[in-house]
Amino acid sequence: MNTSYDYVIIGAGVSGCTTAKHLKTYSDSILLIDKLEDVAMGASGAAGAFLSPLLGKPNAFKDLVTTSLRYSNNFYTKHTKDFIDTCGTTRIPKDSEDDNKFKSYIPFNDFDYTLDKDGYHFKDASVVSSYDICKHLTNDIDKLFNYEVKTLEYEDDIWIINSQYKAKNIILTTGYSLDLIDEFYLNIRPVWGQRIVIQTSTCIPYNYHKECSVSRTIKKDENTYIASIGATHHRFVEEKETNKTDTETLLKKANDILELKDVNVIQEIGGARASSVDYFPLLGSIINSKKTLDEFPYMKNGTNVLASRFSRYKNMFILNGVGGRGFVLAPYLSKMLVDHIVNGTVVDESLKVDRLFKREVKRLK
Ligand SMILES: Cc1cc2nc3c(=O)[nH]c(=O)nc-3n(C[C@H](O)[C@H](O)[C@H](O)COP(=O)(O)OP(=O)(O)OC[C@H]3O[C@@H](n4cnc5c(N)ncnc54)[C@H](O)[C@@H]3O)c2cc1C
Repeated sequence: MNTSYDYVIIGAGVSGCTTAKHLKTYSDSILLIDKLEDVAMGASGAAGAFLSPLLGKPNAFKDLVTTSLRYSNNFYTKHTKDFIDTCGTTRIPKDSEDDNKFKSYIPFNDFDYTLDKDGYHFKDASVVSSYDICKHLTNDIDKLFNYEVKTLEYEDDIWIINSQYKAKNIILTTGYSLDLIDEFYLNIRPVWGQRIVIQTSTCIPYNYHKECSVSRTIKKDENTYIASIGATHHRFVEEKETNKTDTETLLKKANDILELKDVNVIQEIGGARASSVDYFPLLGSIINSKKTLDEFPYMKNGTNVLASRFSRYKNMFILNGVGGRGFVLAPYLSKMLVDHIVNGTVVDESLKVDRLFKREVKRLK
């Protein structure tokens, strides 16, 4: 293996793996690193990996999810068609209040639906196999596992990783752990969650979503089917922790969708979603707050400074904060990131880290 690369991507979840896939169009000199033993061992391994429309009145986040969902469905079908199940999802309102909300959202639905006996069936919703997707996308990428990046130093236009590897460009796709970069405004919060995999004698024809998601079943043998059920949400809980209470909660919610017979829980998987304070992802270059504030100290008093004058870490980029929809968002966002890095295309303001920097600087007053 080389020790010097044009691009080193740190973090081999769906954000890192889709970034590697897009970069591969432009470069053969890419190294993908993870501290765990394989791809998709963080949040990406825990994900039910359902791809489903966001319902609601128009807003910027819904637009982002809609554009990303269209992109990711095509992306997975094109590159990893064996690992996407385009069986559709039926969304069931929780109660009559929720049903009224669903009805009020109808004029704003971005995807076609049909009404079936249970609820609203969206044929463009799907589910992917998270591990297989990440594995397949990075087949031809150099990878380094069980390797924790502890230090990043920049010398003579080169990033030096743990005094061992060299990179012209660094891309941080490290999920909820942002220890590598000491920037007060990059406040990513972990939202821990669990999903379970069950065996059941009930055959489920497509995905369902009500208070949890239940996947279509895969046939194991004559009377046994496998389904995935996700997910719980907790703040302030340790990464990867799994517990029986969550399993019971998920089974109860799943049984409220359809009766599952002869259930045997075969896997409980936990992970931490990385969520930004405004729930929008973070994408692009990273501002060096110390240098910027040293140069423009009056920013702390509320004076505006043009973003083009902010000091930034050279050749270092980030894709993070994809929250509970990483499998929907990452293919589209990583394409945007790679276009930005390679072709200099402009990143949408709503995704740049600049918004968090400006917001936090105001609080320093
Ligand atoms: C229970 C659960 C269910 C979910 N269900 C869905 C769903 O149905 N649909 C959907 O779209 N999304 C879902 N999500 C969200 C989705 O899993 C995440 O948005 C997505 O996986 C985030 O991907 P990532 O690559 O950004 O982060 P991660 O997958 O967490 O990857 C980050 C990687 O960086 C590595 N890393 C960190 N620091 C270092 C370091 N210093 N050195 C080396 N490696 C490092 C970590 O080991 C990790 O592997 C779910 C999440 C959970 C927890």
